[in-house]
Amino acid sequence: MKKYQMLIGGQWVDALDDRTFDTENPFTGTAWAQIPRAGARDVDRAVAAAAQAFNAPSWSALSASARGALIRRFADLLTTNADRLADIETRDNGKLIAEMRGQLRYMPQWYYYFAGLADKVEGRVIPIDKPGVFNFTREEPLGVVAAITPWNSPLMLATWKLAPALAAGNTIVWKPSEFSSASALEFGALFEEAGFPPGVVNIVTGFGNEIGEHLVSHPGVDKIAFTGGDRTGQSVYQIAARSIKPVTLELGGKSANIVFEDAVLDDAVKGVVSGIFAASGQTCIAGSRALVHRSIYPAFVDALVAFARTARIGDPSRDDTQVGPITTRPQLAKILEYIEIANAEGAKLALGGKRATDPACGEGWFVEPTIFTDVGPKMRIAQEEVFGPVLAIIPFESDEEAIEIANGTIYGLAAGVWTQSITRALTMSQKLKAGTVWINTYRAVSYMSPFGGFKRSGIGRESGLSAIREYLQEKSVWIDISGSVPNPFVQR
Ligand code: NDP
Repeated sequence: MKKYQMLIGGQWVDALDDRTFDTENPFTGTAWAQIPRAGARDVDRAVAAAAQAFNAPSWSALSASARGALIRRFADLLTTNADRLADIETRDNGKLIAEMRGQLRYMPQWYYYFAGLADKVEGRVIPIDKPGVFNFTREEPLGVVAAITPWNSPLMLATWKLAPALAAGNTIVWKPSEFSSASALEFGALFEEAGFPPGVVNIVTGFGNEIGEHLVSHPGVDKIAFTGGDRTGQSVYQIAARSIKPVTLELGGKSANIVFEDAVLDDAVKGVVSGIFAASGQTCIAGSRALVHRSIYPAFVDALVAFARTARIGDPSRDDTQVGPITTRPQLAKILEYIEIANAEGAKLALGGKRATDPACGEGWFVEPTIFTDVGPKMRIAQEEVFGPVLAIIPFESDEEAIEIANGTIYGLAAGVWTQSITRALTMSQKLKAGTVWINTYRAVSYMSPFGGFKRSGIGRESGLSAIREYLQEKSVWIDISGSVPNPFVQR
């Protein structure tokens, strides 16, 4: 079994008390690597290393252009190593190799983009309303950023934090999910190879419930960038509030894919299927609710079920597999429980509905692509994030009703709209309470476009120009240019 070490202060180390845990392959259900199980003292040394690196001239005195060049070097290495890292991700989290390769090959763009932005962060000169003073602003890094990431797109979601945070001049302590730490540690080696000074990027592996609170509440940490479930996000937010730490939270969703009667049916079918069954539904942006206009409801459901039925389920490391396993054992149990809940609530099962036993699935943790029809908008299956290949189809009669149902959850991460009417498309883009609205497409993301949630789906934005602001703080500098400091006892 492969044995990994953590990256702290430029050194590859075991946990101080030598504890480890096994990481399992979701397709075979067997352990394949041993990961250090960090404790509070390991977090302490990672934070200390990041704080030291933040102040060391090797990082703090580096010009922004040189910082950009370093990030570009990392992006080059990532490009060369993309397919190797994709293999590790697939082994560790069970996502399809085709998807992971696509993600990894695209990922360097985030680093090139933010590397380019590093030396374009500028302050302002403010034409202040007082005579004899000059006022300007500086944009400064925050310090040590704790990045906490989930298992579903481990390196991509870390990249959304690391690229802007490093471009802005911060240092990092990254805690990947316990279910996807191997690829994080392989990724960490590339920062070393690119020539980042020791301690600029540190990786501590372990269990969120053991070290998460310690990391978030740590006095040496200046900012939290978190992606994960909304309950964990809530706890992170509460703990960060105790020491008034800024946070970025990318949380869950219950996104609606809305199919109007004037949609191109085939396109909408493909969009809804990709929204929910890609990555076996284990994406925050999963279009887990399909809202379908009553007039096309039966035809759409038939076409959707027929198309979803063709999905090839099985070994995620095969190029032709279309639906892979569920990443973790607890997640498998959670999805099967939601299927029971939906049945008990009276939703009508149109496809799937159980653990997949196809021979292609072996001993893996698979759930059949599952579709429920006639779902009521207030049922739990229409309100709660399942994070699996389970679609809830809800009929609607009017545009107003579609908006009301789409907006009627605690979440606001994304929405899809399928229509040929430009007026309807623009009206929906305005009225939907979601951080991303896709019209006649679904799941598109780019390093250039902001991503984040409305409502309980999160705070702050990742990607795009504004993302770097999440890792900067603005300072106002006043200079007296009058040449004489006034007598403070004389009121002016
Ligand atoms: P979790 O919230 O369980 O975990 C996320 C990360 O937080 C993991 O690294 C976890 O560590 C850590 N963690 C756990 N407990 C604590 C704690 N008390 N304090 C600090 N950190 C802690 O989410 P999952 O890993 O299950 O990921 C799935 C969730 O992520 C889904 O709800 C999904 O919607 C959301 N997500 C959101 C995205 C977005 O951009 N909006 C994108 C992708 C996913 P450990 O693994 O060791 O428990």
